[in-house]
Amino acid sequence: MADKDKPLSLPDLPEEELDLANIKRLGLMGGTFDPIHQGHLVTAEAVRSGFSLDKVIFVPSGQPPHKADKEITEKEQRYIMTELATVTNPFFMVSRVELNRAGFSYSADTVNYFRSKMDKDGEIFFITGADAIMEIFTWKKLDELFARCTFIAATRPGFRPERMMGRLERQLKQEHLQKVIAMEVPAMAISSTDIRARVGAGRSIKYLLPETVEQYIYKQGLYMDGR
Ligand code: ATP
Ligand code: MG
Repeated sequence: MADKDKPLSLPDLPEEELDLANIKRLGLMGGTFDPIHQGHLVTAEAVRSGFSLDKVIFVPSGQPPHKADKEITEKEQRYIMTELATVTNPFFMVSRVELNRAGFSYSADTVNYFRSKMDKDGEIFFITGADAIMEIFTWKKLDELFARCTFIAATRPGFRPERMMGRLERQLKQEHLQKVIAMEVPAMAISSTDIRARVGAGRSIKYLLPETVEQYIYKQGLYMDGR
């Protein structure tokens, strides 16, 4: 029987005191993570090793501006799934900074937050998928954001790096474009949308995401309506 009717009784976890003083190259991966899946994990690990990052911090969003009209899973459940998925990788961490912030979170504010915790010479690499980078012109405080980090855009199936950069050229200022690096990641056509639909339809999600997250989804009765 699903535990979905039981109230979630998590304490109010405080904003973490992450010690980033010795971190020179930090990766950030933002997302709704509803749920987190192997596409996110493979991408984060590929960028970590490809760009010699010291750590990758996963930043589950609060209520993201671009998904404000859609129903998204309770933030503590998305947080727990993100922890479950990343716990086995010593380079991965999860931050509650956006979850604990009231209202909308903008990536520029999140990047500023991590910048303020790092040494002056530290660098931030913001990891996204190709679909997310193609919408970056809609993000707020772009000048500030590009001043403080480099974007690594992982190409998903159907998004060739050259095509992606070509399309970006028409959308971004030259100085911003210079701070976007495309990276081919082993093709993974996995998306949270597809996983939610599969659960709703009673189809298997095995191997699309870590087993612990799969078990958590069933135990909490998430996505039974396929959304
Ligand atoms: P949804 O289908 O609900 O939009 P999603 O699978 O796209 O979910 P998000 O939480 O929206 O996941 O994405 C977080 C980040 O991960 C975004 O930058 C997105 O582009 C990237 N991403 C998502 N899926 C993949 C994948 N299979 N490979 C590489 N990057 C991905
Ligand atoms: Mg998405």
